[in-house]
Order: sequence, then C-alpha cells, then structure tokens
Amino acid sequence: MPRPRLLLATTSAGKLREWQELLADLPLDLLTLRDQGITFDVDETGATYAENALLKAEAYGTASGLLTLAEDAGLSVAALGGTPGVHSARWEGNDYAHKNALLIRLLAGKSGAERACRYACVVVLRHPDGRVWRVRGECRGQIAHTPAGDGGFGYDPVFYIPRLGQTLAQVAVHEKDRISHRGRAAGRIRPILRQLIESGAA
Ligand code: IMP
Repeated sequence: MPRPRLLLATTSAGKLREWQELLADLPLDLLTLRDQGITFDVDETGATYAENALLKAEAYGTASGLLTLAEDAGLSVAALGGTPGVHSARWEGNDYAHKNALLIRLLAGKSGAERACRYACVVVLRHPDGRVWRVRGECRGQIAHTPAGDGGFGYDPVFYIPRLGQTLAQVAVHEKDRISHRGRAAGRIRPILRQLIESGAA
C-alpha cells in the first residue's frame, strides 16, 4: 500500500529541513513544494501568525490537492514592543548578519531579562476535504550579546537559551527540535497526523 502523502508547504530551506527531521519517523511520504512543481509565493497579508499560516495552507493545499502542513513563525523581542514579530522574514531585509547585528545594537545597555525574546510558530494542517487543524508552539530566550554558532537559520545565532548557555545556532539539531517553537508545535500536530494515518483518512 502506498504511504499517505503530506505536503510540507514552505519556501524556507531552514524550515523545510527541520520539518523533514521532525516528522521523519511517521509513516508518511513528505513532499515539498518543489516536488509538486509549485513555484508561487503566498502574500502574507494576515495580521497574525495564525492568519498567515491559514493563508498558506489554503493556497498550497488547494493548488496541490494534498494533505498540507503550513506554518508561520517569527521572533518577538519584548523590549522592542514585540518587533519584528509577524514581519520577521521581511524586517530590515534578507541579510541575517545585518538583522542580527541590528537587534544587538537596539538592545545596547540592556542585560538579562531585559533582553527577553520569544519565537512563536503556528502550524495549520489542511485536509483535501477542507478540514483544518491549528496548533502553536513557543520558545523563550534572550537576545545574545554576540552572535554565535552556525547551525539552524535566521535569527538562531542571536537566540540565546540561558539554561543551556548556548544560542539555538550552537545547540545540536536534536536539541533544537526538542525545545524550539517548531519542535513543540510538531509535538502537538503529531497525534492529529497519527490519527489521520491510522484511520486511513490521510
Ligand atoms: P515566515 O513564517 O515565512 O513568515 O518566516 C518566519 C521568519 O521568522 C523566518 O524567515 C525567520 O526570520 C524567523 N524564524 C522563524 N523561525 C525561526 C527559527 O527557527 N530560526 C530562526 N529564525 C526563525
């Protein structure tokens, strides 16, 4: 019997790699947008992660006709009023060396809890019959004083976890998967995926 298929509907190479790892043990064929020949981007016009995740799940789920997992995520820095938040991908361009250095500059003179930040991730799973499920995951940390590490992607070199004494770009892949916003959201979507697989509905 062919395995059920799940479209990982993201254009981010970093996110795709993490989702492939996070769901590797499920009896699913994980497909990418590229596998499906889907090249369009979805305008992220929503005001929240949940709205944007739903926009992507609907657009890519409809285009592919497949069970589709989409997510929207971002970094919020408390001392900057939640910036960059839902605009994390576009905030100050695409160069993360610049974006991360700017965050550090904006927090000059602040220490410890004053540097608090949070990653959030909202995942929407969409069935071809139109049903949707939504879960969320969060990860708390502090903006580092200096970027460190070359793992992960995006803001990870400045996302410092005080308990570990390391940034998310320094921790092992399995450790990021265990504690990250995406890892936590994956833990919540997994029982729903299992149920769909076991009931033959996937
Ligand atoms: P979007 O969900 O495609 O709008 O993009 C989310 C953006 O948030 C990414 O482009 C990154 O800038 C940031 N982001 C979300 N999750 C992570 C992560 O796990 N590591 C680093 N940056 C992240």
